[in-house]
Amino acid sequence: MEADLQIKCTNCNHPADFFFASIINVKKKDANYFSKSKHFVLKKDKGWSSWKTYYYVWYYPMLSPRLENISDFPDEYKTGHRKGGFSYYDYQGQVLYGSEGVLVCSFCKTLEKHKLDWPRDAYFQLEYKGKTLWAYDRSYALKLLAYIRSDGRKKRVVSTTGHVTQDYFLRKIPGHFQAKKARD
Ligand SMILES: [Zn+2]
Repeated sequence: MEADLQIKCTNCNHPADFFFASIINVKKKDANYFSKSKHFVLKKDKGWSSWKTYYYVWYYPMLSPRLENISDFPDEYKTGHRKGGFSYYDYQGQVLYGSEGVLVCSFCKTLEKHKLDWPRDAYFQLEYKGKTLWAYDRSYALKLLAYIRSDGRKKRVVSTTGHVTQDYFLRKIPGHFQAKKARD
């Protein structure tokens, strides 16, 4: 499973992986199952009108088995996706919700829940004249480096097949960091 972000390990400051927790909106009838399961954290929430209670569970990857390996996981949450009041859960795809997640550090072996403070937590960041530029992970940092180093700093690179190959985020780098003096 590929990490969502790379962050500074809170324990050793080495680069650590961060995985967002998933949120699953569940029906009241299933709340009991989820509250008893050690793989999920059940939370209740009153809707804005406060006459209805919403049940949702947090699932922390890496700290819990993969969902497909949790044998009694209710079928109805396995396929498709369910839209919740303020988020949704997609079994096939990836859900990024809020800032709850898991920190995994292969250097000091830390494996724990982590509340993301982004971009403060970003491992790949640099400061130039009071402003901070950050990258999600190593691959983004390398693309950024290649772009900054390149002569033309092309915003749009079109391949021979007509596809735009340059990453979109490179078009969004503030001018502050693209000044000649900032190159080094
Ligand atoms: Zn660490």
